[in-house]
Amino acid sequence: MPDEVLRILILGGTEEARLLARRLADDARYDVITSLAGCTVSPNEIAGEVRSGGFGGVAGLKDFIISENIALLVDATHPYAVQISANAAQINVPCLRLERPPWQPQPGDDWTLVATIDAAAQALPKGARALVTVGRQEIAPFFARADIHVVARMIEPPGFETPDHAEIVLARPPFSRQQERALMQDKRIDVLVTKNSGGEASSAKLHAARALALPVIMIARPEVQSSLAARNLDELVTLIERQLA
Ligand code: NAP
Repeated sequence: MPDEVLRILILGGTEEARLLARRLADDARYDVITSLAGCTVSPNEIAGEVRSGGFGGVAGLKDFIISENIALLVDATHPYAVQISANAAQINVPCLRLERPPWQPQPGDDWTLVATIDAAAQALPKGARALVTVGRQEIAPFFARADIHVVARMIEPPGFETPDHAEIVLARPPFSRQQERALMQDKRIDVLVTKNSGGEASSAKLHAARALALPVIMIARPEVQSSLAARNLDELVTLIERQLA
């Protein structure tokens, strides 16, 4: 056993957070707890200790950090999870953030950049057959467009009725380029709607759209204030190791 063990709280809900917990779980220098928002009913298995549900704002997060003796906070949440990241930035313990670089359009790509989910729904032309990958919590504005056909891909059903002009595809990432292309072709998709999540794991849909010359409605990334950010898992692990020093 090392002399001192670093107690880490990972704010999760992403594949990278899951992979980070896996990497740190067998290292005796770390004692890790992963926190999930609790919005996915059956999340993928996570190595080590896991807690679920909101903390109750900044005050609740502070209380948790004190009571659990957390020495390092790692914000590995999704780039669009702005509230929890804003809360994490206000905590008085060292905080690292994983920030996947956003995707950039490649030559030949046809992207329409929009600022919000609502703007994305409005940007779809009448009669479009859209593959919408924003998740169940933000699908409502697309379901409200009765003049388009929506193929809504999500991990779990939305919990409210799917209108006649929409269909749900339940599937858990990651997806290969072949799978994405097959889905777009099978459903006769003519436009893709996505957040700019960045990273390799969910980029196959962009490759497929490019191969099929489909336009993309890209929802811009929200601004998140962060001090020390890593671009990928390896960089993050290096920053975590420095905290031991
Ligand atoms: P959000 O708007 O930033 O957070 C809303 C509230 O949910 C937070 O204030 C916090 O409640 C709670 N929360 C969020 N993440 C949490 C975590 N990891 N552990 C404990 N509580 C958490 O977040 P969101 O956009 O709804 O996303 C929810 C979760 O889904 C995030 O953990 C994120 O990593 C994951 N996710 C989000 C997206 C996306 O597109 N937004 C995509 C994939 C995965 P309290 O204030 O009560 O603590």
